[in-house]
Amino acid sequence: TFKAWVVEKNEAGQSLAFKDFDDADLMDGDVTVRVTHSTLNYKDGLALTGTSPVVRRFPMIPGIDFSGIVETSDHPEYKPGDAVVLTGWGVGETHLGAYAQRARVKGDWLVPLPQGLTPEQAMAVGTAGYTAMLCCMALEAHGVTPEHGPVIVTGASGGVGSVAVALLARAGWHVVASTGRDGESDYLKGLGAAEILDRAELSKPGKPLGKERWAAGVDAVGSTTLANVLAMTKADGAVAACGLAQGMDLPTSVAPFILRGVSLLGINSVTTPQPKRREAWARLARDLDLGKLAAMTSRVPLEEVGRLGAEILAGKVRGRIVVEVDRA
Ligand code: NAP
Repeated sequence: TFKAWVVEKNEAGQSLAFKDFDDADLMDGDVTVRVTHSTLNYKDGLALTGTSPVVRRFPMIPGIDFSGIVETSDHPEYKPGDAVVLTGWGVGETHLGAYAQRARVKGDWLVPLPQGLTPEQAMAVGTAGYTAMLCCMALEAHGVTPEHGPVIVTGASGGVGSVAVALLARAGWHVVASTGRDGESDYLKGLGAAEILDRAELSKPGKPLGKERWAAGVDAVGSTTLANVLAMTKADGAVAACGLAQGMDLPTSVAPFILRGVSLLGINSVTTPQPKRREAWARLARDLDLGKLAAMTSRVPLEEVGRLGAEILAGKVRGRIVVEVDRA
C-alpha cells in the first residue's frame, strides 16, 4: 500500500480522506511512477471540494500533475530511474491521480523531466505554468509582439497569471497585471508587471467596444472580464483564453472581431499533443526566470493538500504551490 488522498462518493455526496491505497487497485498503465512532487491548480480545487463534477470515476485519487521517478515500465521510451513529468490527460479526473506516493499511467502521457528543471521546479510550473506558456506561444504564433502595445494578464496573482506575467515581462512586453488583491502590487511588480489594474474595472458588464488599451491578453478569468478585455484590445490584437475563475460564460458581442479584427485564441492544456507539449516544456526551461519561479512558489506536505482546495477556489492562493510528496 501507499498513502493517498481519496475522493469517494455516496448518496450524501463527495468525501475526501487521506489513507492507505492498495497497489492492486491502481488502474491500467504501462509505467509506474514513484511520485516525488505534485501541485495545486484551480481544477484540483474543484476536484478536492466537489464544487463541479471534475471527478468522474470513484474512488478517485485527485491531483492532475506530478513529477517523479519511474519504478517499472513496459513503455519503450521509459526505464526505471527516469525522471518524468505528467500534466493533464484526465489524471485526477478519470484516471487515478497525483496526490499519492505512487501512480500508474500511460507512458504516452508522460514527458521526460525537461533539462534544466528539477522535479520540484517542474511542479512549481505545473499545469498552470505550462498553460501560461501555451498562451504565450499562441500569441507568438498569431504574430502579435511587444512592439504592438501592452499585454494584459487577468487573474494575475493566481498560478497561470503569475507565470504569464513572468514569461511575458521577460519576453519584453509591457505587462498590465489585473488583480483583485490590494496587497499584491509589489509581488506582481517583482514578477515583472509594469502596471497594476484593479480587476473591478473589468468584472462588470461594459460596452461592446472600449478604448484600445492593449495589443494582447492572457485571460484566466473568462466571463465579463474576458468580454471587457476583448472590447479594449487594439486592432488586429489577440487574446489567449484559458480560464473560468469568474465564470464559464462569455457575454460579449462580435464587435471586437468584426470591427477591430481582434482574435480569440482558445487554449486547452489537457490533451495537447506531444510535440507541442515538449516544445512548451523546453521553452519553460529556457525562458522562465527560475528566481521568479521560486518567488511565486510555496510548499506544503502531501498531508496538507486536503484543506487547500477551498482556498484556491476562494482566490486565496498566491502564485504556485508545490506539494512535497516525498517529504520525510
Ligand atoms: P488560480 O491560481 O486560482 O488563479 C485564478 C485567479 O483568478 C485568482 O488568483 C484571482 O486572481 C482570479 N479570480 C478568482 N476568482 C475571480 C473572480 N470571481 N473574478 C475575477 N477574477 C477572479 O487558478 P489557476 O490554477 O491559475 O487557474 C486559472 C484558471 O485557468 C482556472 O479557471 C483554471 O481552470 C484555468 N486553467 C485552464 C487550463 C486549460 O487547459 N484551459 C489550464 C490551467 C488552468 P487575482 O486575485 O489576482 O484577481
